[in-house]
Amino acid sequence: MREIIFASHNKGKIKALNEILSKLNIRVVSAEDLDLPDVEETGTTFEENALIKAGTIARLKNRPCLADDSGLCVDALNGRPGVYSARYAPNRDFDKAMDMLLGELENAEDKSRKAHFSCVMALVFENGEHICFEGRVDGQIALQKSGASGFGFDPLFIPDGYHQTFAELGADVKNKISHRARALEKLTAYIAEKGL
Ligand code: IMP
Repeated sequence: MREIIFASHNKGKIKALNEILSKLNIRVVSAEDLDLPDVEETGTTFEENALIKAGTIARLKNRPCLADDSGLCVDALNGRPGVYSARYAPNRDFDKAMDMLLGELENAEDKSRKAHFSCVMALVFENGEHICFEGRVDGQIALQKSGASGFGFDPLFIPDGYHQTFAELGADVKNKISHRARALEKLTAYIAEKGL
């Protein structure tokens, strides 16, 4: 069984990736398992940040490494919070962050509620070669927070084609249509075809 490092400390993401890649005979070893350092996200795009994280760890361990970066982009806020989504929340308090976002939208000149989540997964090999896979889900920012499942901005995001937020729709729906699910689908199709 081949191993791949996933440069993440997020237990939910590690579990999901392990479940999917084990079917391709690949074992995911996480930043948790290897006690890897957190890599600072100094890029200005999701792709840059994912490549910085995966590249740093691939060089450090001389093994193939995966990393992802994701966030919420709101049209009326010119794409913010975008790559700064995690840092938009004061002390990681997303309840407060969602209130701040609703306040910003109330005051914005552009009354559109259009938004999307983006996720880029970067795969970097020992020799520095790399490939990125992007997933995106379009939708609207709700007028108020609803639902209790998921994390981050899920209680505010209504994906196109639905009338409820990600936090109301729950994991079964979200794991089929989310930005992360779509990026992962592309990654697994690539690995299934080319191997690691
Ligand atoms: P990261 O990719 O784990 O650094 O996540 C960046 C930030 O984007 C998170 O802290 C959330 O604020 C936001 N975000 C990314 N994906 C999701 C999602 O699926 N639901 C809700 N918020 C998300």
